[in-house]
Amino acid sequence: MECRTELYAGKAKSVFTTDDPDKLVLRFRNDTSAFDGKKVAQLDRKGMVNNRFNAFIMEKLEATGIPTHHEALLSDNESLVKNLDMLPVECVVRNIAAGSLCKRLGVDEGIDLKPPTFEFFLKNDDLGDPMINEYHIESFGWGKRDEVEAMKVLTFKVNDVLTALFKTAGLLLVDYKLEFGRYHGAIVLGDEFTPDGCRLWDIETREKLDKDRFRQGLGGVVEAYEEVAARLGVNLPSA
Ligand code: ADP
Ligand code: UDP
Repeated sequence: MECRTELYAGKAKSVFTTDDPDKLVLRFRNDTSAFDGKKVAQLDRKGMVNNRFNAFIMEKLEATGIPTHHEALLSDNESLVKNLDMLPVECVVRNIAAGSLCKRLGVDEGIDLKPPTFEFFLKNDDLGDPMINEYHIESFGWGKRDEVEAMKVLTFKVNDVLTALFKTAGLLLVDYKLEFGRYHGAIVLGDEFTPDGCRLWDIETREKLDKDRFRQGLGGVVEAYEEVAARLGVNLPSA
């Protein structure tokens, strides 16, 4: 599939039109950012690792009946996806307390959350992605009530599927962020599922194997992503 024009260059991925208006190409770059773009770096192999990791996860989700935008892996750094009309919200499920939740509520990192908790954030870097609730989504017209409901149901379904999958790889799925869009009237999972947008800890040692390694300057960022991929059986070309 040939890329035509670049529609959008985000912080980590670029989006291209194709000759089919229903399809886009996502290019996963090596750019890495945190703190709403305030900390940035180029990390060798990250684009390739995340592209292949994402394809693996999206295929697992599709196989359990979760509608995703993923169509095909095109190359090391590119995937073909459905062209979604994205909702400007981020859906976060947390199984264990970490990150902004700990800061906001003054709770210790590592507390088990039973049941898992759910948060919506507005996708707006200038405002620092503020937390919003479902009434805001409806009142400001970012999404309809049934769309809000569908995003919640699908995000929790992803939790069931991926908590079990990561457990088989000796990993705890601490939390993660999903983005959804509209496709011919249905709510479909878009964007990506990679260690850039979730927290994964080793089940035994609780070692962090996700983007917190970058946020916290722990080093070995892409090596950690590759370790997770290897444990899951994601096919990566050798370095
Ligand atoms: P950001 O916009 O946060 O900097 P990225 O660098 O990951 O993030 O950019 C990818 C952009 O592509 C995001 O804005 C995301 O919402 C959008 N996107 C992801 N999947 C799709 C899709 N299937 N259709 C349309 N847009 C998408
Ligand atoms: N997350 C993300 N993009 C964002 C904000 C959060 O992918 O713009 C992910 C993050 O990696 C984590 C989860 O969502 O897995 C919850 O993030 P949190 O609210 O704790 O924010 P953080 O402190 O990580 O910025």
